[in-house]
Amino acid sequence: MIVLPDNVQKIIQTLAAAGYEAFIVGGCVRDVLRGVTPADWDIATDAKPLQVKGLFSRTVDTGIKHGTVTVLINKQPYEVTTYRIDGEYADGRRPVQVSFSASLEEDLSRRDFTMNAIAYNSEAGFVDPFGGRKDITAGLIRCVGQAAHRFEEDALRMLRAVRFAAVTGYRVDEEILRAISGLGHTIAKVSPERIREEMCKLVLATHPQAVWLLESTGLLPHIFGEEYALPALAAEWLRQCPKEEPMRLALLLIGTENMLQNLRYDNKTINETTLYVRLLGRPLPASRYEIKKNLRYVPPEIFGKFLVLKEIAAPGEAQAIEKTSQELADIVANGECYSLKTLAITGKDLASMGIPPGEKMGEMLESLLDRVMESPGLNMRDILCGMVSRDLL
Ligand code: ATP
Ligand code: MG
Repeated sequence: MIVLPDNVQKIIQTLAAAGYEAFIVGGCVRDVLRGVTPADWDIATDAKPLQVKGLFSRTVDTGIKHGTVTVLINKQPYEVTTYRIDGEYADGRRPVQVSFSASLEEDLSRRDFTMNAIAYNSEAGFVDPFGGRKDITAGLIRCVGQAAHRFEEDALRMLRAVRFAAVTGYRVDEEILRAISGLGHTIAKVSPERIREEMCKLVLATHPQAVWLLESTGLLPHIFGEEYALPALAAEWLRQCPKEEPMRLALLLIGTENMLQNLRYDNKTINETTLYVRLLGRPLPASRYEIKKNLRYVPPEIFGKFLVLKEIAAPGEAQAIEKTSQELADIVANGECYSLKTLAITGKDLASMGIPPGEKMGEMLESLLDRVMESPGLNMRDILCGMVSRDLL
């Protein structure tokens, strides 16, 4: 039995009172059964979108074409989707068209894995035509129907299989692994955005050893490129790493050219990940001064996270990393200057001393900053002005 949240129960009852059937379905049923609180509750019904809209006062047309209406109850959103059969699949992409169905079982049969193809409501109990509950108990990810056939329909399901393994820690059915080995190259037909969404969930998952399935099935080169090689300790590293996407991506991409652009990652993720990969590819800064040189283009918070990554990927250097970490904290706590913004002398000061704005002035400021980074005590306007007037640069 599943105890449904009040709002969900209310939606199901409202639909039932109007003569429709309605069930919770998909990820939320799976998550409850494996003892995890669902992030959202999806409802499937034989009511058509317009009929659903007619029964609730607040709705949003999320994907009417695909049968989805978002119902708002006490400002909480719930996706209510009409039973569907996926239409023709054009070359392994999303179905070209979907048609509505009156049958829950038909709707369940288009779903990818048995554990994702279970429905429940408090009246009928579980509807589980493919043995999803048994597979959840056994910790097994299995396709609804023949794996190869389902992957030919939609190649993204291959990556989803591995993603669910990483999220749940379950074993992936042999038939799935064999099918991926034969069909890995067809992932190229899937849009980068859909791949990225699954990769994100995979990278942040709790059982990252599943990344090896990407490697062993040969799927990985089709995602990260032919030259890409998974670091030998990738899974171990990910396990030790905070659940932050750029940090975890950097551990996967250590020593490689960045291929995040291809997957249409946002610039913030790309930039942060690239910084980590670059820093990890270089020796640690050997002095306080060198740390500050890094801080000119890496914010202290990011540099601190880089040190966390370094400790994961290079545990042999733990002592040096600890020392760098301590020095970083000191630099920040003392407010030591490492950028022109906090340099105690400005271009205006130099101009008033007769130095014309331009390249020369820029060089002078750089050289003053360099001195200050070596000797923080110099960062006072009078001292720096004195150095300029005595031509000490
Ligand atoms: P999560 O908790 O990560 O959101 P989820 O199972 O809810 O997991 P979604 O991508 O949100 O995953 O999809 C919701 C449901 O829709 C799935 O449980 C599955 O039944 C079905 N589904 C999603 N994508 C596919 C697909 N590519 N092929 C077949 N069924 C799919
Ligand atoms: Mg979901």
